[in-house]
Amino acid sequence: MKHRFLAASLLCFVLLFAGCESADDKRLKELKTILSESGLSGDSAAAALTGIDGARERFLFLVDAVLVEMEADPYLLKRVDKSMALPADYEPGDLVALDGSGLSLSRSGHRLRKPAFDALVVMSRAASAEGLTLLVSSTYRSYEYQKNVFARNVAEMGETEASRVSAAPGKSQHQLGTVVDFGSITDDFAETKAGRWLADNAGQFGFSLSFPKGMEALTGYVWESWHYRFIGGAAVNLQNEFFAGVQHDLMLFLDRLSRSKDRLTKR
Ligand SMILES: [Zn+2]
Repeated sequence: MKHRFLAASLLCFVLLFAGCESADDKRLKELKTILSESGLSGDSAAAALTGIDGARERFLFLVDAVLVEMEADPYLLKRVDKSMALPADYEPGDLVALDGSGLSLSRSGHRLRKPAFDALVVMSRAASAEGLTLLVSSTYRSYEYQKNVFARNVAEMGETEASRVSAAPGKSQHQLGTVVDFGSITDDFAETKAGRWLADNAGQFGFSLSFPKGMEALTGYVWESWHYRFIGGAAVNLQNEFFAGVQHDLMLFLDRLSRSKDRLTKR
């Protein structure tokens, strides 16, 4: 009788333990809920969830790394798109002048945020080592500057067309100070050596192509083979491994994540 009682107790204990969720399990479940609330298309969300199930530890690791970056530098991974604008008075506090940096520049007066500048210098050196020059053609643009760019485009081509090729003031990633337009700023750039090199290598240096080919319905913008946003290595890996390389979807997730941090179980 005593033995039977002990055996039953042991069984209960084992069952209880097996049914007990670990902190990682809980956190993963919460992150999946956040992902499904992020506004990704059904197909993209399903693909991301499948990827997460196949590489749980890796996903948790990268999310942790990105959360640390978001805490330290909230604007580095800030969502900026057609439906999410920056404040008109947002100007980064760590803009660095590119003049005299040794970078190849289209004109004087270019500026970038320090983390993007440092990464660009390293990337340009790597390109140089392979005999390529990365021409920097557009960098930080203030709200006021973007206002003029957009107004000029609207006057030239009308609002609908202007909105496909340029951002309204406040909605330009260039206001973040972490974006570089390279080369000719035309579709021909994609087929140049520099354009192909960037497509293959920019991610290794923390840069991400914001408006890929064939994604106008998603991003709101035509393909821009020259427009790269610095988001850092962990975010690039998260983007490539779980969001099919699509920065827009990553940003939707991170935006939702930044608003839901408080409900996450600690690891
Ligand atoms: Zn651009």
